[in-house]
Amino acid sequence: MWEENLDPKDWEEYRALAHRTLDDMVEHLRTIRDKPAWKAMPESSRTALDTAVPWEGTGLESVVDEFRRHVEPYGIGNPHPRFWGWVPGSGTAGGIVAEILKAGINTVPAAFDEFGRLLEQQIVSWMLEAFGMPAEGSGILVSGGSVANFIGLAAARDAQVGFDVREQGMLASAGPVAIYASAATHNSIDKAAQLLGLGRKSIRHIDVDSDYRIRLDELRAAIRDDRRAGVRPLIVVGNAGSVNTGSIDDLDSLADIAADEGLWMHVDGAFGAIAALSPDLRSLLRGMERADSLAFDFHKWLHVQYSVGCTLVRSEHELIRPFDVSASYLSAIDRGPGAQPKPSFRYGPELSREAKSLKVWMSIREHGLSKFGQMAEQNVEQARYLGEVINREPRFELLAPIGLNIVCLAYVPECCPMSDEELNALNTEILMRLQEQGTAVPSHTVLNGRFAIRICFMSHRTVQEDIDLTVREILKLGRELEREQAA
Ligand SMILES: *Cc1c(COP(=O)(O)O)cnc(C)c1O
Repeated sequence: MWEENLDPKDWEEYRALAHRTLDDMVEHLRTIRDKPAWKAMPESSRTALDTAVPWEGTGLESVVDEFRRHVEPYGIGNPHPRFWGWVPGSGTAGGIVAEILKAGINTVPAAFDEFGRLLEQQIVSWMLEAFGMPAEGSGILVSGGSVANFIGLAAARDAQVGFDVREQGMLASAGPVAIYASAATHNSIDKAAQLLGLGRKSIRHIDVDSDYRIRLDELRAAIRDDRRAGVRPLIVVGNAGSVNTGSIDDLDSLADIAADEGLWMHVDGAFGAIAALSPDLRSLLRGMERADSLAFDFHKWLHVQYSVGCTLVRSEHELIRPFDVSASYLSAIDRGPGAQPKPSFRYGPELSREAKSLKVWMSIREHGLSKFGQMAEQNVEQARYLGEVINREPRFELLAPIGLNIVCLAYVPECCPMSDEELNALNTEILMRLQEQGTAVPSHTVLNGRFAIRICFMSHRTVQEDIDLTVREILKLGRELEREQAA
């Protein structure tokens, strides 16, 4: 009989390589500040990675070497202290250890009474308590905020449509329905509506006020108009930290409206929900604890390595309703690994999945939830500090109020008045140069037709000098471009 396996032929050689690899990653993280915040992958590496189908292997050492040369230097640099684009999770040193441990035991928390699922339930009950939601609530860890929003809306749909969607499918729907969310809402809500058969047309993008918060008068009017037109209002989505500006909806009033109108309230707290862990910031989120479902990420403001998000609901039934399907090969028996009383596949769409709970559990135990609240406060202070710098500097314009930890700014030349179009082109060029130099990586958005350089303070590694350095560099680039254009 031919007998082979994929384990190392020489365990000592493997041990040495594994230790070296870990050392490399420790060094990578220790020296991250000295590296560029981003570096484009050169053509040579793109070419090197573009190979024929590798029917024959080259061995671990050679693959690790390729990683070192072509992958490691060019990652999207979100662990960097000046990587501020989008909503960047920075990870932790402890997270590297957790990932090794997880890979080492490689367990699957699907249907088994094992630590993966037990820790997940523990984490869910901690977070319910931390956010002030009912202890009898339930939840599930998923790959991120997008899926967490999808699960929240799935629970909402099945609770609200008034017939058994799981059995009959959305084609049985009795008529048009409506979901209300502000114009500042993340596109994963639209995506969830698409996937759930609710259709994007059912989403009412309600106007925001000057603070980018949902306008409650407009919301009430939209609900009234829909009812008059024979449309059934189902769900209202509240933002706890919108993606463009960090604005937080008046969640308490949204919860009142949801209660009055019989709507399900879902809160997208992808990053912002974490502010509730700070005694100073918590009041900004008043009403979040009244949500029927809450989506948030562990890989953003809780700094856990990618990728892990979470949906919380007020009772277990809300998750089981959309997702439970029985199967003989997954039915419980009395003892052994198949005895799991609360298998995760009943609470979400996935069966096999990684034991994300380990790194979350370890990180929360390592640092304590209060520490994450303090780190969030630090980022909010950094945003306010940058706001003050912008207000003092005539060549800067603040393009939106600072809702939490996000600053949207534009460079405005002193030389001469410019149209919005010219300003937008100028600021786009400033941003691209800043990123290409590797100095810092803000991202961008468009607010009222203006191109904004958008800085999201989410890194626990950022210090004030990082902000000062970036400010100086933006001003320098702005001057440079003014000169280039004058010439
Ligand atoms: C990041 C984000 C999402 C999506 O979360 P992912 O983890 O990227 O899937 C949804 N809503 C808001 C407000 C976000 O910032």
